[in-house]
Amino acid sequence: MTNVQTGVKEVGLYLNGKYVEASDGATFEVKNPATQEIIARVSEATEEDVDRACRIARDAFENGPWRTMTVAERCSKLRRMAEIILERKEEIARLDTTDVGKPYQSALHLVPRAANNIKFFADFMEQQGGETYPMEDEYLNYTRYEPVGVAALITPWNVPFMLTTWKLGPCLAAGNTAVIKPAEMTPLSVSLLGEIAKEAGIPDGVVNVVHGLGGVVGNALTSHPEVDLVSFTGSTATAKRIMKSGADTLKKFSFELGGKAANIVFEDANLDKAIPVSIQAAFMNSGQVCLAGSRILVQRSILDEFLERFKKAAMDLKVGDPQDVQTKMGPVVSEEHYKKVTSYLEIAKEEHATLICGGKSPDLPEYLQNGYYLEPTVYVQENPKARICQEEIFGPIVTIIPFDTEEEALQIANDTEYGLNGVVWTENLQRAHRISHSVRAGTIWVNCWFVRDLRVPFGGFKKSGVGREGGQHSIEFFTEAKNICIALK
Ligand code: NAD
Repeated sequence: MTNVQTGVKEVGLYLNGKYVEASDGATFEVKNPATQEIIARVSEATEEDVDRACRIARDAFENGPWRTMTVAERCSKLRRMAEIILERKEEIARLDTTDVGKPYQSALHLVPRAANNIKFFADFMEQQGGETYPMEDEYLNYTRYEPVGVAALITPWNVPFMLTTWKLGPCLAAGNTAVIKPAEMTPLSVSLLGEIAKEAGIPDGVVNVVHGLGGVVGNALTSHPEVDLVSFTGSTATAKRIMKSGADTLKKFSFELGGKAANIVFEDANLDKAIPVSIQAAFMNSGQVCLAGSRILVQRSILDEFLERFKKAAMDLKVGDPQDVQTKMGPVVSEEHYKKVTSYLEIAKEEHATLICGGKSPDLPEYLQNGYYLEPTVYVQENPKARICQEEIFGPIVTIIPFDTEEEALQIANDTEYGLNGVVWTENLQRAHRISHSVRAGTIWVNCWFVRDLRVPFGGFKKSGVGREGGQHSIEFFTEAKNICIALK
């Protein structure tokens, strides 16, 4: 609901099919990062509210019709949910634009994917079979995949709506109930999921949404005895805390975490393709993408040409008001994050990186002067151990690291604590395979980036994650396999 006098949205918690205030009436403010304007006041859940949400979800799981209705009935409601998301496409995209600072065109582009996250898993679950294991003629084993129970779905601020539906789709298709906790900086689009579920005919109590700080509301959720599983996307540091807080109640975890992808450009690469895609991989969503190609490893023989063309393309990116359809890059998400991102400008200087372009605020019209903007920033750093080559900056700063040989490229690519994804640019098929097999990461893109098929496994090696999402992998996480053994004689 929007307050007609102030134009500020008022957003409640969503419990048992209704918007409600927090039990102590507390709220927090959400700002537009392009202007610092207050855009919403959101109810801030207390531990008591989280407890209530978990009990509601438990009751809906144990006693409601959701778990026991036919898969066909459940999935038809989910397909309706996907349709409603598409019907509300512009509204959802606008919310993510004002909340995250994401350019409107790119926010709009993500809504059909969000709808498909729901529809895809409905269709997928309907095709789900089980296994049979006959033991001679004496016994027959057959396997069922049953829902686990109450799921906590905790999501980050960089792609709020799409990433939440990526968890909610398989969670609901499998027959679980959910308590969603969106990131406190960007809760607006995700807060709609409860009412959209209700409109689609999903019973009250199946989809609940609580808002507030991770350390309080998130922690209350991940330690709650009624929560059976936690699907989390966010930072590696938070995942460690969640694993500890869920340990006493032995929850099931799925973690999708940070990255520091190597985007490796060999001398035989097609630069007409590699450069525009590498620009996108570096600066999409102001570099606030877990899959960002934030380290570009360039073979030294083509370094000069690459730098010249990459710099020009970076400087040509239109930075500005995310609401403007011409804008290619908006601000970063918040003041706190802006301080973190820009602290790397100083770190890069101390580590003697060479600044190629950017490193300062762009020239912007008066009304955007308070926004958290940084120009697309490009460094060259010869030392792959430098902090800008090792740490996830999560902003519009990309580091180019020169290399001479394939062995050296591989060594640099694998020399971080992350392993979410990697990118390889080469026209040599054998090299493409060699590198793909040797880079320790969950996804390798060859001569492309960000191409997603919802059936394939998605997740990280090393500190980039635990488990996999996508197709059968998501269903395995959100179900318990049960074997039934029948004596035939
Ligand atoms: P974050 O870890 O700070 O927060 C993520 C969510 O966890 C938020 O909802 C937050 O409130 C909550 N949270 C924080 N502390 C908590 C606690 N103690 N207990 C429970 N919940 C808690 O991450 P962020 O800054 O919102 O997101 C950026 C990070 O997410 C980056 O590292 C990025 O790479 C990662 N990410 C990964 C993927 C992926 O698919 N692998 C996708 C997007 C973002």
